[in-house]
Amino acid sequence: MMDIAENLARVKERMEAAARRAGRSPEEVRLVAVSKTVEVERVLQAIQAGVKDFGENYVQEAKKKIETLGQNVSWHFIGHLQTNKAKLAVRLCDLIHSVDRPHLAGELNRAALQQGKVLPVLLQISLSGESTKFGALESEILRMAEEISMMPAITVKGLMTMPPFFENPEDSRPYFIKLRKLGEHLRQQNIPGIIAQELSMGMSNDFEVAIEEGSTLIRVGTAIFGPRVSR
Ligand SMILES: *Cc1c(COP(=O)(O)O)cnc(C)c1O
Repeated sequence: MMDIAENLARVKERMEAAARRAGRSPEEVRLVAVSKTVEVERVLQAIQAGVKDFGENYVQEAKKKIETLGQNVSWHFIGHLQTNKAKLAVRLCDLIHSVDRPHLAGELNRAALQQGKVLPVLLQISLSGESTKFGALESEILRMAEEISMMPAITVKGLMTMPPFFENPEDSRPYFIKLRKLGEHLRQQNIPGIIAQELSMGMSNDFEVAIEEGSTLIRVGTAIFGPRVSR
């Protein structure tokens, strides 16, 4: 039986060690516990163990959990978001990591306006450029950021990426370096309403490398909850 509190303690130790290696303060890195496919009781155990941020990939699944567990923790949307789910995602989620096209941003803006909110988002970038991956291409970021800067109910807080899976976490490092540099480049443009300080990068297998390269949000599922049952 997987003990969530114990797993969490181990992840936090590793986070702190990685931050220290990089000369960073561990408080600069937020742990998002990825709870997709994890049932409510186990998410509750994580809350009791002190987790404050959860990441979900499917809006309907998130809705069920959020209605049961409430808004005392933060809910991050990290999956591919269909435009027709934008309204619900805006209502339920505190930060959307996966904005990858202007049309989606437009729908989120419209929903946030209706709901009287300003929605923080991250732009998801596909650095590998693989057509099977979601995410905007590097060459599209500036144009997308400029378009979004004209949307009053959305603020871009940063960038997110998900490299291909590698056995060796060191193989993720070039992707993380690239995302950090893209974030710096975006900030230098001084586009109004674009803050872009956050870097959402690093998962169970490679979060230490991501922290060494400047990650501010790591998205960790299996290292906390154990292996997922496939859906
Ligand atoms: C599932 C998922 C994660 C977590 O993956 P683990 O390897 O279980 O830590 C992180 N980010 C995204 C976008 C995911 O879909």
